Amino acid sequence: MICKKCNGEIDKKAVVCVHCGCKIKKPLLKKWWFWAVIVILVIAIANMGGGEKTETTSNQQDNQTVETVQETVTYETVELDVMFEDLKNNAMKAEKNYQNKNIEFTGKIKSFDSDGDYITVEPTNADEWNFDSAMCYMKNEEQKNYLIEKNVGDTVTIKGKVKTIGEIIGYSIDIAEVQ
Ligand SMILES: [Zn+2]
Repeated sequence: MICKKCNGEIDKKAVVCVHCGCKIKKPLLKKWWFWAVIVILVIAIANMGGGEKTETTSNQQDNQTVETVQETVTYETVELDVMFEDLKNNAMKAEKNYQNKNIEFTGKIKSFDSDGDYITVEPTNADEWNFDSAMCYMKNEEQKNYLIEKNVGDTVTIKGKVKTIGEIIGYSIDIAEVQ
């Protein structure tokens, strides 16, 4: 190595010049801590990137889980007249059996709510003296557009969730699908 001050030849490892006594500065690239800082920065940046990736992956998994849940709603096929029979026999048991259940059933439209909030549906085998009907609430425009074309007495198949059960009011159901 050459001393920058006096141009005298000195040992590579020398801290002080043997000729002029000045301090020898090692170039930055030859200092161990310089490389240590670089390595730490690289690791830190890599970890930041890695963290974001992990987050994205878990978000995607969450979305997939939500989709899977929506796809796998299963509707238990039930008969309206059996549901009303159960309600008359034991309202408590009917509530236990049907509350919040996703059900699919076919029935006849008995009436339309003039505000367009719900229809009432009675068993397909009901006669004119039947008072058993489920209040089926429309939940979107698609359902309303479908049902506005229907008439009292038309048969519909409904998939939906039982919201409330009462001995007097009967069943109320949120429509998920109507055909
Ligand atoms: Zn020197």
